[in-house]
Amino acid sequence: MVDRSAQPQFTTYQFRLNGELYSARLKKSIKARLVRIQISKTEGLTIVVPHRFKIQHLPEILEARKKWIIRHVEALRQETDIIPECRFGCYVNLMGDEIQVVRGLPNGSHNQVIREDGCLKVGIAGSQKIEEVIEKWYRSQARIVITARAVELGKSINATYSRLTIRNQRTRWASCSRSGTLSFNWRIISLPLPVLDYVIIHELCHTREMNHSPAFWKLVEKHCPDWKACRKYLKTCRIDGLPVVPQKL
Ligand SMILES: [Zn+2]
Repeated sequence: MVDRSAQPQFTTYQFRLNGELYSARLKKSIKARLVRIQISKTEGLTIVVPHRFKIQHLPEILEARKKWIIRHVEALRQETDIIPECRFGCYVNLMGDEIQVVRGLPNGSHNQVIREDGCLKVGIAGSQKIEEVIEKWYRSQARIVITARAVELGKSINATYSRLTIRNQRTRWASCSRSGTLSFNWRIISLPLPVLDYVIIHELCHTREMNHSPAFWKLVEKHCPDWKACRKYLKTCRIDGLPVVPQKL
């Protein structure tokens, strides 16, 4: 006979920390005396509360422990290294916005993406994959946006370059060759505008200072006073894959 009382009874509990939505398994326990928060690779976040605990008090407790929760959720996400799946309904990052991917065009249309009404409307034909269609669109947008920004920023920096290429690097955001070719990862258009500009400014400054000397950073600072914050931000972003907004645990 199965003892059903021994089966853990979980419900899904969603909450916000620093504006981000998190999801946890919530369990009421007769044994628990205090609220317990656990995290594991297989189960994600679990919150165990005493049986008579009033759930309306939970946000306050989670807020008080938010540092711990955010730190551990981020660490777990990096450890498990999940690349969020790109599918209809997901959100993608585009120049500081989070835009929803929707099925917006008739099924027969080829390879089309339109940014409209705050959404990315995608038309898929036959066996085409949504990831491929979106990546192609990102690359074409990257070429337009990055070329325009490089021209604009290049004038104020007084930087000259021989070529600008849009590439699909998986380990770097951009590079500058000795021959003066600037290469940019198409994914930089997923970044917020100030960070996108920083990446371009960084490479443009290399056309004048081909190193990371104090003189180089001084030049960067002149054109991007917030460069340190931008650099820090970049370290938190993943380079490979599509810029799909991850759902928190
Ligand atoms: Zn550099």
